[in-house]
Amino acid sequence: MDFDLSEEQLMVRQMARDFAEKEIIPTARQLDREERFPWEILKKMAPLGFLGAGTSPKYGGMGLDWVSYCLLTEEVGRASFALRSIISAHMSLTAQTIEQWGTPEQKQKYLPPMCRGEMLGCFATTEPNIGSDVANIETAAVKDGSHWVLNGTKMFISNGGVAGVALVFAQTDKSKGYRGLTAFLVDKGTPGFTARDIHGKLGLRASNTAELVLEDCRVPQEAVLGNDVGGGFRMAMSAFDKARLCVASGCVGLAQACVDASVEYAKNRVQFGKPIGGHQLVQGIISDMILETEAARLLTFRAACEKNKGKPATIETSMAKYYSSEVAFRAANNAIQIHGGYGFIDEFPVERYLRDVRVATLLEGTSQIHKLIIGRDALGINAFS
Ligand SMILES: Cc1cc2nc3c(=O)[nH]c(=O)nc-3n(C[C@H](O)[C@H](O)[C@H](O)COP(=O)(O)OP(=O)(O)OC[C@H]3O[C@@H](n4cnc5c(N)ncnc54)[C@H](O)[C@@H]3O)c2cc1C
Repeated sequence: MDFDLSEEQLMVRQMARDFAEKEIIPTARQLDREERFPWEILKKMAPLGFLGAGTSPKYGGMGLDWVSYCLLTEEVGRASFALRSIISAHMSLTAQTIEQWGTPEQKQKYLPPMCRGEMLGCFATTEPNIGSDVANIETAAVKDGSHWVLNGTKMFISNGGVAGVALVFAQTDKSKGYRGLTAFLVDKGTPGFTARDIHGKLGLRASNTAELVLEDCRVPQEAVLGNDVGGGFRMAMSAFDKARLCVASGCVGLAQACVDASVEYAKNRVQFGKPIGGHQLVQGIISDMILETEAARLLTFRAACEKNKGKPATIETSMAKYYSSEVAFRAANNAIQIHGGYGFIDEFPVERYLRDVRVATLLEGTSQIHKLIIGRDALGINAFS
């Protein structure tokens, strides 16, 4: 077992950290206040290769190994969890799914502009009536000659209002259950396809979340991902295996930001004649935060190492995502506790950390869903059915 990072991995982390400190952290509060999508930052990230971090160099990406990819998303998550969600939807959910399952023509059409940041991607399984139960998606696609006609609504779609392409999951044969799901690449501007931004979010205000409406939306057969009618469920699960790791590492980054902010504050804030960090109960909170953050990081790296061996690492990834998201939420809550009243206002970043990370135990599988995935693996009993 080797816990050391390679030269290349250290370089990726340093590059991402430098970028985050120079370009992301200084504007994070303002973007959150103004609910403004960070186009300027994405434009600066693209030439560095960050928008194609997990995509193969053949299509203009960096082709990073999974540990490097986690280091990159950890640094982004430390700086802005909203930006992390944009990157995860674009890269892990959409680009990497196109690369794994797409036809050569689909990869050539979408991946180079996605790596260059000229086109963002989004991924749509969730619907108004269907969230965790992905197999029972209601959006329907009906064959009409050489085309498919899509009807349905997608809910809570990250990047939905700004993406150039949406990976939309629809039922092509309801009688087959999850084997009747198919993934479609729907381009922005396709007649019958509209996006409506969702406002009033608790957190991730500097990201875009939208409702997608498909009304008699006609797409050609070439829009079927991998030309594989009925292969959608497998594709969606493979996308979750990747994006969950991105959530896990982003949560490690956010938990680390909570630790750093709390240590700094506890060294400088004086009460009862000494820094609050000198009070044992405050030290106890910080020690627990550090321990949990480190444990979450190790679980995340373990899943990444398994993926580097070419395995999907579904269970390892599930454990990393479940644990890291709960840890990050606790860390953000504790960071506010340590900051006292100042933690409640946006003069300090910890209130944003809490609002932003609240979603992490919900998306890419809720904590309850991950318990059932881990439990199913241990017991051999499927609690979903
Ligand atoms: C900001 C944001 C961004 C998002 N981005 C995307 C995106 O890009 N693409 C996309 O497709 N979706 C996206 N989502 C949707 C997200 O993935 C869903 O919210 C999530 O899957 C949960 O679905 P739901 O909200 O319908 O909750 P439900 O599935 O209705 O769950 C509600 C509650 O019931 C519990 N529950 C459900 N089933 C079980 C069970 N079998 N056993 C025990 N408990 C259960 C859940 O754990 C939860 O506590 C996003 C959501 C948000 C808020």
